[in-house]
Amino acid sequence: MAERRTGVKKSEPRTSPAHFRNKHLLSIGDLDRFEVENLLDRAEAFAPLLEQPIKKLDTLRGRTLINLFFESSTRTQSSFELAGKRMGADVVNMSVKSSSVAKGETLIDTAATLNAMRADLLVVRHGASGAAELLARKVDCAVINAGDGKHEHPTQALLDAFTIRSRLGQIEGLTIAICGDVLHSRVARSNVSLLNLMGARVRLVGPPTLMPIGADRWGAEVFHDMRKGIGGADVVMMLRVQRERMAGGFFPSAREFFWFYGLDEDKLKHAKPGALVMHPGPMNRGVEIDSSVADNPSVSLIETQVRMGVAVRMAVLEALANGGASEGAR
Ligand code: ASP
Repeated sequence: MAERRTGVKKSEPRTSPAHFRNKHLLSIGDLDRFEVENLLDRAEAFAPLLEQPIKKLDTLRGRTLINLFFESSTRTQSSFELAGKRMGADVVNMSVKSSSVAKGETLIDTAATLNAMRADLLVVRHGASGAAELLARKVDCAVINAGDGKHEHPTQALLDAFTIRSRLGQIEGLTIAICGDVLHSRVARSNVSLLNLMGARVRLVGPPTLMPIGADRWGAEVFHDMRKGIGGADVVMMLRVQRERMAGGFFPSAREFFWFYGLDEDKLKHAKPGALVMHPGPMNRGVEIDSSVADNPSVSLIETQVRMGVAVRMAVLEALANGGASEGAR
């Protein structure tokens, strides 16, 4: 298990780099199961390096990675920054607030600027679904979607899969309940696709007002009763209530939401004994999750998820820097 391995010398991991068919990573649909398995193997090889005093490789030396975040981020942006630096890349964090974007430059003009800078890898987060795909059509470099509106957040799903695999050995056959504000969650969409691809049984749990119409056709079983929805689950993945994407009342009060859907020790008893708890962060404590669960190291994988994020993103950067098999392909 990646997180338990120690004592590895600072050297190139012995596994070979993952390769993607596509030039960009915009959604989980860009990947097949073989590519995901390869990527997770590679992340597993990188993980021990991150426990070493000297954590640097020179795989991406001379390459430029640009982080372009139009929406705020703590974990994802710093995780990509660290991943790029650990791989030896030059990393530029473009601060959108102080850039021309704040002065009204369009996404297309931004793309032209990025092309002129000769970036090799572009990590983009944007509030609009499809923004990463639009940029990918306009820039010369590889684009990684770090979250576009309610649409997708593929590296979050990959790090979640890596965390589960590291802890439970495999994903195939597990029952995984994704709970809370499914409607506004790109994490839920990417996770449903990826967990299905890996052979898990996926459930979506939440109030009808926060469940997208047609969610039952995503390849997940839909529940509105939390205790039933997490009943017998191996993993309970909580989602943040995304107030910034809500105009109007999707539920009466935070207190009432917690009563019905907040994960506490009592509700968790309905999951499988020893079930594990995840959350992509940032958490609304006392709304979708209680601190007694979030901070309990025997059930909570929340800190591990953050740690695993760097290794997974190193593997993604390496795969994309190697170029898609069919050059120019999506
Ligand atoms: N950090 C994740 C995202 O950007 C989850 C969240 O914000 O709720 O989608």
